[in-house]
Amino acid sequence: MSLVPTIWSSRAPAAAVWCLCPEGTGRDETSRNQASDGGEDTMPEQSESEVIIVGAGPVGLALGVDLLRRGTDVRIIDRDPAHHPHSKSLALWPRALEGFRRLGLIEPLLERSLTVGALKYYLGERVIRVGFGSLQGSRYRYPVTLPQSATEEVLRQGFEDAGGKVEYGTELTGFTQDADGVRAVLSVGGHEAEARSQYLVGCDGAHSTVRQCLGVTFEGAAYPQRFLVADGVWETSLAQNETHYFMSPSGVLVVTSLPGGKARVFLGLGEEVPADQLADTAQRFAQARCTVPIRAVGELQTGIFRVHRRMADRFRVGRVLIAGDAAHIHSPAGAQGLNTGLEDAGALAWRLAGIRKGELTPGTLDEWERERRHTAASVVADSDRQTRMWTLGGWRSALRDVALEAADRTGALDRFVAPRQAQLALAYPGDGSRAGKLRSGMRLPDVPLEGRADQAWLHDKVALDAPVLLLFAADNRTPERLESTREGAQRLLGRGGYGKAVLLSARIPESFERERTAEIADPGGDIHRLFGIRKPTAVVVRPDATIGAVFELKGSTPSR
Ligand SMILES: Cc1cc2nc3c(=O)[nH]c(=O)nc-3n(C[C@H](O)[C@H](O)[C@H](O)COP(=O)(O)OP(=O)(O)OC[C@H]3O[C@@H](n4cnc5c(N)ncnc54)[C@H](O)[C@@H]3O)c2cc1C
Repeated sequence: MSLVPTIWSSRAPAAAVWCLCPEGTGRDETSRNQASDGGEDTMPEQSESEVIIVGAGPVGLALGVDLLRRGTDVRIIDRDPAHHPHSKSLALWPRALEGFRRLGLIEPLLERSLTVGALKYYLGERVIRVGFGSLQGSRYRYPVTLPQSATEEVLRQGFEDAGGKVEYGTELTGFTQDADGVRAVLSVGGHEAEARSQYLVGCDGAHSTVRQCLGVTFEGAAYPQRFLVADGVWETSLAQNETHYFMSPSGVLVVTSLPGGKARVFLGLGEEVPADQLADTAQRFAQARCTVPIRAVGELQTGIFRVHRRMADRFRVGRVLIAGDAAHIHSPAGAQGLNTGLEDAGALAWRLAGIRKGELTPGTLDEWERERRHTAASVVADSDRQTRMWTLGGWRSALRDVALEAADRTGALDRFVAPRQAQLALAYPGDGSRAGKLRSGMRLPDVPLEGRADQAWLHDKVALDAPVLLLFAADNRTPERLESTREGAQRLLGRGGYGKAVLLSARIPESFERERTAEIADPGGDIHRLFGIRKPTAVVVRPDATIGAVFELKGSTPSR
């Protein structure tokens, strides 16, 4: 997780405390860990699978569902005896919702969650609003809130429906790897066992055993403040479908609604608070910082955290990878940790599946590492800026308020902050290729395909096991381009590496589909115009909807 929990508790005192670990250090497992090339070979061989995922948090579960759906044999182990009911993360942004759609889990997720229409920042008398209504390029314009335990439940059900079963009570204590695979050492009910796999992915959270075994550093720092969360029923007149940030001189207060009539109060504190005073402290600070009356009704579930920003210097060593909080932890400002981890998983699953099928080489994992480290670094930096913004005092907070007001007046918050927060604007550096508004490294915007009976969107046509060629025929005024673009498509498909081609053309009847080439009618050239494409162009769209490369099709021959 992106924060190191000090204490979680309910209003009832000590008995409800379920986790207590030294701040910033985690459990000291170094003496038990082994990540050598050798090791005793005395344990029973337990089983062989293609991938072992360590950790059944949201990232491990999402990776597991994705791999099973792609036909990869995967085990998920978790050292906890069962899944836990506590809610850490709440916010799921549009890009994560797109990921849930690709996993086939968007409906159960949306059924249980609450839509957030806007973020509101209260600067004394002035209120600044970041709205999501004008977000473009995704069918999910609004974020939602859902307790992390419920998000995990949806993913766990998806994993089971795809034929998997999380192995709880199974701890990874060490591993070795060689050219052929990984040998994991497990502790199952106090007994040691061994499991072999082609790859091992550590989705085992901030104190990752896998990361420690690899000897990978986790550079960064802790923030001086503590953050307190208090979930429960809060009586207040604040709008339910908005998240409210009160930037008071004594620190930040965030109030977010949850499904089921509950809300989370989240606040920054300068001091440590004893476990039995968390609920009272939340109540007191909420009342002091909120500009309208607010009062807790009934029991609160509380937790207090030290916040860190850290990133692993490597996400991959040979056949062992780390993802999610094991690889990067952020401040909860911006609510990006789980969302970013889900993207790590989505970008990894199709690559591991492609390697298994012999369609991709292991070099694709270096690309994954490069790209995900780039994203993690920018998310850590963004949430660091937001955390500092929350915790500014004196003249600096006055300056912040002036800057926020100016950004609000010019519409910059809706135009730039909302898409970035929604993670839709996050992009990899790519290879520099571009055409019109599309460039390598960015996420392909999802747009409705107007006039189709099936009300399909562009992403419905490009999600596949292997990268897809999206071909813009640009034949609105030059009909003869269609045939040459088709020929170009066949040549590219013949080279291999692509699942299929999707051709956007002015002239194709909507129903036209043939093996490996789906065609989308763009009679008025609207989609071409939207993306600024004027010449025949090929766009390589990866299974996670990011653009791998863009190139112009010259005649029937691709120019690159
Ligand atoms: C108060 C709070 C609010 C947050 N709000 C948000 C938000 O709104 N949006 C957002 O995106 N993020 C948020 N986050 C961050 C989010 O909770 C984390 O990013 C997310 O939990 C990371 O998921 P994960 O699967 O990587 O790791 P985890 O959830 O930490 O799961 C790791 C799993 O690995 C298991 N494990 C560990 N070691 C081993 C081992 N050796 N063997 C076997 N199993 C092992 C653990 O038991 C655990 O189940 C918040 C965090 C906190 C604390």
